[in-house]
Amino acid sequence: MNSQFPFDRAQPGVRELQPYQPGKPAEELERELGISGAVKLASNENPRGCSPAVLSAIREYSDIGLYPDANGFSLKQALSRQLGVEPEQITLGNGSNDVLDLLARVFVGPGDDVVFSEHAFLVYALVTRAVGGNAVVTPASDWGHDLLAMSKALTSRTKLVFIANPNNPTGTYSPAAQLEQFLAEVPRKIVVVIDEAYFEYVSADDYPNALHWCTRFPNLVVTRTFSKIHGLAGVRIGFGVASKEITDLLNRVRQPFNVNALALVAAEAALNDAEHAVRCARDNEEQRARLARFCVERGLDYIPSVANFLTVAFGDRAGEINNKLLHKGVIVRPLENYGMPHHLRITIGRDKEMDRLFDTLASFL
Ligand SMILES: *Cc1c(COP(=O)(O)O)cnc(C)c1O
Repeated sequence: MNSQFPFDRAQPGVRELQPYQPGKPAEELERELGISGAVKLASNENPRGCSPAVLSAIREYSDIGLYPDANGFSLKQALSRQLGVEPEQITLGNGSNDVLDLLARVFVGPGDDVVFSEHAFLVYALVTRAVGGNAVVTPASDWGHDLLAMSKALTSRTKLVFIANPNNPTGTYSPAAQLEQFLAEVPRKIVVVIDEAYFEYVSADDYPNALHWCTRFPNLVVTRTFSKIHGLAGVRIGFGVASKEITDLLNRVRQPFNVNALALVAAEAALNDAEHAVRCARDNEEQRARLARFCVERGLDYIPSVANFLTVAFGDRAGEINNKLLHKGVIVRPLENYGMPHHLRITIGRDKEMDRLFDTLASFL
């Protein structure tokens, strides 16, 4: 570790941090290779993009010289009606990552433990270390969260637990009965975050809607996002639902204008176009099944997924295949920094994008 200024002056947790590595933008690859028409299947973005109603709402909004509504009144009303929670239970964030960050800042300090699973979404480690917290990483089981191991890892030092349901980058989920039992066992002093970024994609019968537990478990926070099925990753908006008391605490550290005016307008329009989301979920299931079939035909193992991506095992060839795909203008996500060097995460695209992936892969498998 660098002992020179300014690194020696940075907080210890920050010095240990590795910057988050986002998926490579298509334009960047096109520039590098001097090609056009690169396909990006690397960041779990919605290949259909947002609803046309969202684009109209953004175009019609002209008050960008004014600060946005710091309380997001109108969007919270709409969310409240749709989700059956009180507006006072909702915290809006500049993406749901912002809410995860607020949670760490409110509940975690130097030396406090934060529990999450191996192969869990990397932002949990990032927000934990940034505030000097100690990441307690429990072993995964069949690539998914081992709730029993997580339960056993809780101590008097534990302040926060992060559960991604489903998890990114594995696509695995915890069924209702197990998650409910876990929540029942967690001491009420420990705040449990259930991250439901892919909620709208999941069709499994035993997949829970954690919002139903918010009243019963006052230590529960559920986060969701407009980045995935609503196709709004570029404007940055997500939210958390919790007790009024937890929400009040989150709002104390939240920047007053953390969510911009266009994002507020876009999110509300997205909520009003439920059909778009249904269509996207249906496309996703269809194309994910195609990718799974392709894997079976080619003898590739994959982790069964309920989300908008499939994580495929390529063994020792994962790095090589990632590079070859890049050279052919197909961007997927390598997972070394998730401790999964033999896997590539492939976001589910539309018909043509998947054809391109299959043809390209077939040419060197
Ligand atoms: C994509 C994702 C998010 C959402 O991030 P935003 O900040 O809302 O764009 C949250 N959690 C997980 C597990 C994700 O994969």
